Amino acid sequence: MYVCEKCPELIVRRIEHKLGIHGSPTCELQFNGVPATLVGQRRMGLIRYVMALMNGARVAVAGQAIGIAQAAYEEARKYARSRVQFKRPIIEMPQVYDLLARMKSQIQVARAITYEASRLVDVRRMLEHQLDKTPDTALRARLKEVSTYAGLLTPLAKAYSSEMAVQVTYDAIQIHGGTGYMQEFPVERLSRDARITTIYEGTTQLQVVGASVGITSGAFANYIAQLGERQFRPELMKLSSLARETRERLANCVTFLKNFNDRTYSELTARRLVDMACDALGCHLLLVQAEADPARATPAEKFIRDALPRIRMQADYITSGDKLLIEKREELV
Ligand SMILES: Cc1cc2nc3c(=O)[nH]c(=O)nc-3n(C[C@H](O)[C@H](O)[C@H](O)COP(=O)(O)OP(=O)(O)OC[C@H]3O[C@@H](n4cnc5c(N)ncnc54)[C@H](O)[C@@H]3O)c2cc1C
Repeated sequence: MYVCEKCPELIVRRIEHKLGIHGSPTCELQFNGVPATLVGQRRMGLIRYVMALMNGARVAVAGQAIGIAQAAYEEARKYARSRVQFKRPIIEMPQVYDLLARMKSQIQVARAITYEASRLVDVRRMLEHQLDKTPDTALRARLKEVSTYAGLLTPLAKAYSSEMAVQVTYDAIQIHGGTGYMQEFPVERLSRDARITTIYEGTTQLQVVGASVGITSGAFANYIAQLGERQFRPELMKLSSLARETRERLANCVTFLKNFNDRTYSELTARRLVDMACDALGCHLLLVQAEADPARATPAEKFIRDALPRIRMQADYITSGDKLLIEKREELV
């Protein structure tokens, strides 16, 4: 990694014309023999420094996606309250309030996962500072554990929040009907702005590659077991047993993939496994929130009830061992 000053040899090729984020100019830089100073150690630039930078940026992009989604949801709810069709505001129509409830719930889960990822990143940094001052075996072991969880939740936060923002902004346009397609309402811009979040700082597919290692290694199972095996209030026992089901289904899939031992099949089903993990994590984090604040029990119940059928479906697919797409790829793609 190098640092260099602006100079005639450093050329801004052109400002790109983009689908969204027009407030943030993007350009290609060309380095033609630019004088530069080495930062840190040689051969560490990409694998250590840039990866650290990128992991920080991934949490930031998750936050960006949540902000865009929140704005789109608020616009959609405002519009649904004011728009009258068939003599009633459209927010009273089940299909419309179903969409709004799902948007709100998914934003809440994205926020919970991203806060948790951020918390783990902060704890990791604190432990690193402590270890610098006082080398200690217990501290080192704790740092190892926290680093594993931070490294696991960062791609999950980025993948879940960005895909959620694309879906939520899409739904916000839908709730606006034809006016949503027009530039006079902000939702079309929010939809274009959301689109980049699944691409830069590593596409969703790359986050899946990163996260699936920690899921198949069993680290993710340990992490959510710590959340789910707490003592919950009696009113939350039903939800806590549903959360246990999400853990069990995920564990079955991991065991199946291990025994099936087919790398291409594991890659093919990795996205489903990560989607399951995000849903399971969302169930656990909202359950913990419900324990801390009884007002959060209903949103937790809503998300868990929505997530379980999705988790069962993904688990059925993963444990089917269906290799049709792999075997007939030429025909099907
Ligand atoms: C607005 C904007 C700003 C940007 N800013 C910066 C910046 O500041 N600095 C910077 O360095 N870069 C920047 N980028 C580049 C950006 O990070 C990359 O475009 C992004 O990481 C995707 O890489 P790529 O375009 O090479 O796509 P590719 O890697 O070619 O990917 C193409 C497709 O293949 C899939 N794919 C690739 N590899 C795999 C795999 N192993 N498994 C499964 N699927 C895979 C991808 O998911 C994607 O769907 C910016 C891009 C944009 C659009």
